[in-house]
Amino acid sequence: MAKTNSATKEVSFFGDVCEFFDYAAQFTKHPKGLLEQIKTCNSVYRFQFPIRKGNSFEVIHAWRVEHSHHMSPTKGGIRYSEMVNEDEVMALAALMTYKCAIVNVPFGGAKGGIKINPKNYTVAELETITRRYTVELMKKNFIGPGIDVPAPDYGSGEREMSWIADTYYTMNTGQMDALGCVTGKPIALHGIAGRKEATGRGVAIAVRECAGVAEDMKALGLTPGLTGKRIIVQGLGNVGYYSAKFLQEFGAVIVGICEYDGAIYNADGLDVEEVVAHRKETGSIMGYKGAKKQFKKPAEGLEQPCDILVPAALENQITTENINRIQAKIIAEGANGPTSPEAARAFLKKGGIIIPDMYCNAGGVTVSYFEWLKNLSHVAFGRMDKRYAENANMNMVNILESVSGIQLTDTQRRTIIKGASELELVNSGLEDTMIRSYHEIRNTKLSNPKIDSLRTAAFVKSIDKIAVSYNTLGIWP
Ligand code: GLU
Repeated sequence: MAKTNSATKEVSFFGDVCEFFDYAAQFTKHPKGLLEQIKTCNSVYRFQFPIRKGNSFEVIHAWRVEHSHHMSPTKGGIRYSEMVNEDEVMALAALMTYKCAIVNVPFGGAKGGIKINPKNYTVAELETITRRYTVELMKKNFIGPGIDVPAPDYGSGEREMSWIADTYYTMNTGQMDALGCVTGKPIALHGIAGRKEATGRGVAIAVRECAGVAEDMKALGLTPGLTGKRIIVQGLGNVGYYSAKFLQEFGAVIVGICEYDGAIYNADGLDVEEVVAHRKETGSIMGYKGAKKQFKKPAEGLEQPCDILVPAALENQITTENINRIQAKIIAEGANGPTSPEAARAFLKKGGIIIPDMYCNAGGVTVSYFEWLKNLSHVAFGRMDKRYAENANMNMVNILESVSGIQLTDTQRRTIIKGASELELVNSGLEDTMIRSYHEIRNTKLSNPKIDSLRTAAFVKSIDKIAVSYNTLGIWP
């Protein structure tokens, strides 16, 4: 169960995040007041606006929370969900702060929420809601390339981001950097190659890095490396799908997939692309011919035999209620907040490893950062130097061939000469970020035997980094 507030008995996701924070804070040396400032949500904007639906009006409830201004702009997605509430948006905004810090993305954390089920609205209505949401943010100075930069989250995607960009741009004609007001835009509308896949690709790299540490795998009774590792993925949305796809590409076996309407399992492996094609055709993953077992209750799917579980749907999925039935030895948090603090403690006690959300799913915001840089510089990555690099490489190959007398094949020549495309540069920056951060977190854990988990280590490291920003800003003595 998530933390309950004893006065109201309400479940608090923000309370969970604060609990993780407080636990980690004891391993830092910062003054209490500074820790309080880092933890608190700086600005919480709750607002309502009407839209016309058919012949009647409906009031839409929405939020934008800027958790920390230790760096500008603040950054984080907008969630479109019937379940969204203020506590959740605050928790997610706080996680964005720690996430950006741990992967060295120079932003503060923010998050938005619109309390609707997108499936109940026409495209035209969704456009109206999104544009009006953007205008409401503008009215209060809660959006802008140097202020607060939204992105996709659960229930939103490229289409919504392009409406936001267009609305902001229309109202800020002539503002050179206006298109940096939102990330996750379609490539044709000032987005960046690789953003859509980025969170899932980052999750897969995080898991590969974790599985690559021989001594940690030995402690779990697993062989090092991803090859043949059995993985269950919860959620086949953007994050879950790309996590599964890249994990499969890296040599792992996807044995289970859980969705909101059921779960499928096959110990010999499921073909992710085939499952997606089946869902496209039938509307559900259930009934996929390659599944050996099916579960009407999706939660049962999480409890099947596997080495690694990737919850990539929503928060609070792994709790004290089901943790003892989870067979995985590694939990890789593709979603934000999928494991409650009590469940996390129980899992660690059993000797498991949790790759924490704030790091595990940071690939999305990392590539959002690259997109923002592209928008501010008004040039695609690689545009200036691709051909220059190719010419330089070709000269080098020609000279080496003539000096050595060795004649390379056409394929060998092409491999050496080729300059990097935007996608290659983005993926290389993403991979470097995920690899470096994993070892930074792991080394922080190893530096103090009292630090119990990668999550605590990640919090310690990101609190330290945020504290330094406060000092260098001269805000804190
Ligand atoms: N919504 C994503 C997250 O939770 C992406 C945020 C962003 O790109 O700003 O990390």
